[in-house]
Amino acid sequence: METKAMDLQKLEKANSIIQVAIELGIKVQGNMGKCFKTDRHVLDGEKPTLFFNLAKNTFHCRECQDVGGTVFDLVCQYRGWERQKAIEWLAHRVEFDEATKKLYHGKGRKKLPLYDNSK
Ligand SMILES: [Zn+2]
Repeated sequence: METKAMDLQKLEKANSIIQVAIELGIKVQGNMGKCFKTDRHVLDGEKPTLFFNLAKNTFHCRECQDVGGTVFDLVCQYRGWERQKAIEWLAHRVEFDEATKKLYHGKGRKKLPLYDNSK
């Protein structure tokens, strides 16, 4: 199954980079997070170096030149996945989110009457 460019844009918007980062297990404080490749940092330490741009839904590490990009890149780089796998994972994540919302709002549930009083 091929994913269209438009769908990718939608998918990117539907997945907040901060929320995805937290779900992946990255320690996030405000709009900063702890890099997942700190072993390569010249200045090591506990200081968060991942910067999340909430407006653009992107991220980058101040120490690593190759850590950064879109929400797709975050999943790929963190998990070491192919781009397609990251896209599918994020698509499932959004579907799950939608399903949960429907469940909680229970749309349509009231339309199933136990008794028909109209007669
Ligand atoms: Zn880094």
